[in-house]
Amino acid sequence: MQCDLCGAKTENLFRAIVEGTELNVCKDCAKYGKIIEKKPIKVEEKRQFTKPAEPEKEIIQVIVPDFAQRIKKKRESLGLKQKEFAKKTSEKESLIHNIETGSFEPSISLAKKLEKFLKIKLIEDYEEEHKKGSKTKTEGFTVGDLIKIKK
Ligand SMILES: [Zn+2]
Repeated sequence: MQCDLCGAKTENLFRAIVEGTELNVCKDCAKYGKIIEKKPIKVEEKRQFTKPAEPEKEIIQVIVPDFAQRIKKKRESLGLKQKEFAKKTSEKESLIHNIETGSFEPSISLAKKLEKFLKIKLIEDYEEEHKKGSKTKTEGFTVGDLIKIKK
């Protein structure tokens, strides 16, 4: 854990408002602002992403990133040429070629068809979290530049 102001590495960070911005600061820097949380922030808190109720989760289906290799490998293991494979799946040979080179990502419905035919996994469930009030004020600039700390 690092202090947002001076960059010092410390186990004990405090949540504080400094010049109108919410920051995690070390004990020394905390006196330049108003401490919100008096207890030091535990490192573990950052890992609590499975908290129930809070973030809204949405399951979306995505094509696996290595779909091209998976399709090609399986097609070749079946001893099928691209042309034959295209014919059997009633797709264009050029489409199969583009998919296997990774230049074209199949739609979910096409991926499902190829999954079924090749008996491989091409679609994954992806959990998307919708965080409330995601943008933080600290983004985009260095707070240390804006605040002059008197020593
Ligand atoms: Zn500090």
